[in-house]
Amino acid sequence: MINPSPFLVYLPTELRHLNWQAYPLDSKLLLFNRDTGINVLLEGDETAHFECIAPRTLLIAITNICNLSCSFCYRDLKLASAWTYETLLEFCRAASDWGVLEVAFGGGEPMLFKGWQRFIHELYDTSSLCINFTTNGMLLTDAFLKSIEGKYGNIRISLYDTNDWSTSIQRLVTTGARFGVNWLITPGELPQMEAKFLNLLSLGVRDFLLLSYKGNDPSLHLSYQQYDEFTTFVTRMHHSLNGIAQIKLDVCWGDAVQNVPVLFERNDCGAGSDFISITSDRQIKPCSFHHWSIPFQTLDDVRAYWEKKHAQRQAAAIAGCARLQDRAVNIDGEPKNEIIRLAAV
Ligand code: SF4
Repeated sequence: MINPSPFLVYLPTELRHLNWQAYPLDSKLLLFNRDTGINVLLEGDETAHFECIAPRTLLIAITNICNLSCSFCYRDLKLASAWTYETLLEFCRAASDWGVLEVAFGGGEPMLFKGWQRFIHELYDTSSLCINFTTNGMLLTDAFLKSIEGKYGNIRISLYDTNDWSTSIQRLVTTGARFGVNWLITPGELPQMEAKFLNLLSLGVRDFLLLSYKGNDPSLHLSYQQYDEFTTFVTRMHHSLNGIAQIKLDVCWGDAVQNVPVLFERNDCGAGSDFISITSDRQIKPCSFHHWSIPFQTLDDVRAYWEKKHAQRQAAAIAGCARLQDRAVNIDGEPKNEIIRLAAV
């Protein structure tokens, strides 16, 4: 672990009192404060010798059970999860000791994980991890949100037709929760996108994560023309909002969406390197959509995998993966043979 203290001198004085974690990147140092979500990237002679030692984030599916049964969901909701309160806590603490900064829990529905509220408290109090989770929002209550105040980084609400997201958003706004929405962008969303975006903004959403579709249903992929339409929309909203809300694009958009304003230039999604996906049956995957997985027992196994593999950039055999040429979809948004060949490898 790197002591952040010698680097605080580079921060504005009003930020120095915060509790910073130092996360080394190759030739850089990131200072991160889990309570505010502030990231500060330092780069110079003083950081030239640093090397990345751990993924920034673990995406962990903790349960398969869910209170909804959405038609598009690919999970077997009856499948038991290998995680218990104790094993998950032990695993996450070990990840924190390794140098991981954040965990992002998903499911199934993480609100149904046994002891979830207590788990958030205990993990926050006994590790330095920033705790995030994605939920359909239906089981959130004012009391739960008040209880976990100050103990988590971000709650992500998925926007489905099957969950009453406007009620959840109102609850999150009135309780002062830190949250954002996860919104899957498909061709069917484009015509109503602006109206929905403005509705969400008026409800109090200030953090929009726009997700690209990964999968083999051609009707859900954007065509090249629709990518352009989407790009124009994002750029226009970014300029109109003038900093009052964050618009984020998931890493799988890759270069399909070009010429939008970006904070950092990237040439890869970071799957298997910046983040790793951990399944409910204890498998490691480069990302949640990946066809490739290996079983593990302990955090040491995950660490050994990361140390050996993190420089590799393995594409997921699924149309829409940015690591595949042209995302493996044709001009009309239909999957190309390339993914079929890749899946056969
Ligand atoms: S490997 Fe492909 S599907 Fe996975 S995160 Fe990267 S771009 Fe997305």
